[in-house]
Amino acid sequence: MASTSYETVIGLEAHVQLATQSKAFCADRNVFGAEPNRNISAISLGYPGTLPMLNEVQVRFAVKLGLALGCRINPRSTFDRKNYFYADLPKGYQITQDENPICLGGGLPLRLLGTAEEKRTVRLHHIHMEEDAGKSIHAADDPFTRVDLNRAGTPLLEIVTEPDLRSAEEVDAFMNGMRRLVRWLGVSDGNMQEGSLRCDVNISVRPSGQEAYGTRCEIKNMNSMKFARQAVAYEVERQIGLLENGEMVQQQTRQYHPEDGTTSALRDKEDAHDYRYFPDPDLPPVVISEQFIEEVRAEIDVLPWEAFEELVSHYGLEPADADLLSEDRETYLSFVRCAAHSPSVPDLAKLWLNRLGPWLAERGIPPTQLPLTPEQLAAFQNLILEGNVAAAAATSKLLPSLLAAPEDPLQRATDLGLLQNTDTDFLGRLVDEVLAEFPDKAAAYRKGKTGLIGFFMGEVMKRSQGSAGPQETKALLEARLGA
Ligand code: ADP
Ligand code: MG
Repeated sequence: MASTSYETVIGLEAHVQLATQSKAFCADRNVFGAEPNRNISAISLGYPGTLPMLNEVQVRFAVKLGLALGCRINPRSTFDRKNYFYADLPKGYQITQDENPICLGGGLPLRLLGTAEEKRTVRLHHIHMEEDAGKSIHAADDPFTRVDLNRAGTPLLEIVTEPDLRSAEEVDAFMNGMRRLVRWLGVSDGNMQEGSLRCDVNISVRPSGQEAYGTRCEIKNMNSMKFARQAVAYEVERQIGLLENGEMVQQQTRQYHPEDGTTSALRDKEDAHDYRYFPDPDLPPVVISEQFIEEVRAEIDVLPWEAFEELVSHYGLEPADADLLSEDRETYLSFVRCAAHSPSVPDLAKLWLNRLGPWLAERGIPPTQLPLTPEQLAAFQNLILEGNVAAAAATSKLLPSLLAAPEDPLQRATDLGLLQNTDTDFLGRLVDEVLAEFPDKAAAYRKGKTGLIGFFMGEVMKRSQGSAGPQETKALLEARLGA
């Protein structure tokens, strides 16, 4: 059977829908889920005689994403018309940037948690601005195709990578990293289900060790990572099968079918669209000054991969915890504000992920509105670390009480009767009482029945009404019994 091993080569064209208030070239609202055909002025409808006008926020977001990804910002980018005919494209062309895109080069750092090759950078070819088309709705029980033009003219960025990805897992990591970044920067909600983030996946295979890339196929419009993984798996197997049979891979645009996980050809290279690109005469070049770039740069503080790095190397967190705590900017910022005061940051991370995060999420409270101050959280942790409150009681009783009505944790622990008594005079008296009451058991312990320690602990606990600090009590018992 097949003796050659193959390497998968993947390049992505990712589309990000920008979270601007209005559309790319007019004042129509840019919102998801509005009643069909509500946000459509004459410009969105492409009526003759209308003039597009560029949305400045779109440019700002493009530059922001470009700077975060280390791109060169093109000081003079231009718009082109990409011509094709389709029911959901009212103008008969899409405004895009073909010749002179706004951002050039750059790369997205990837982390592949739990693999040998943990860090890679996927190089970008460029990022360009464009507008989205409308939506054609083909409902199963409807003999007609319906057209909703609300989305026509909404602003997109297309991020084109070099063919640097090598597996479905890397596609997943790239799209996740991109989702995290666009949300972090506030340029998009990155919601894949709603199509705010989607990608075309270009796939080829080549015999391992071969330098030249194989012929690629492009799978259109993936907006689910599960489907993207399945599509890559199917396509890799299909292409290897062709090569093993001595056939050639045809350069094609293909479509993925979620029903059975297969792909099929939409069109071959030979009948590829001729888009007849030409410069859009209605839109002047976008000229970007150094000052504008610096202004946008000043809006970017820490980036998500830097946040992750800091949590791991400065605060000593496990990568999996650091990953979750740098999922979004607000969580990260709130966490490090608390970490600065914390007596144990790894414990704080667990507390955050297991208790505080879920508590906030259930109530829809943003992480920045955590009711406890960093100082109160630190005091709470100290109560556990110093043995004043048992860890279980602290998380199950004290913490919920504090979150519901914040106050000094020591005061609340006292009021709730959760303080453990660590006073050795007090505990010593109780230990003496217990040993005096059970002389036979004490003798048995001294002869080697050390399992009786639990019995003595229980007796001391009873006499202290549950307040005896277990560590201190145990130490006192052992000292008295050992002698
Ligand atoms: P075109 O100009 O035909 O659109 P590009 O060179 O711009 O093609 O590439 C489009 C996308 O395809 C990019 O993401 C690129 O990384 C990817 N790509 C190019 N060649 C290959 C290949 N042989 N295998 C996989 N992906 C590829
Ligand atoms: Mg291209």
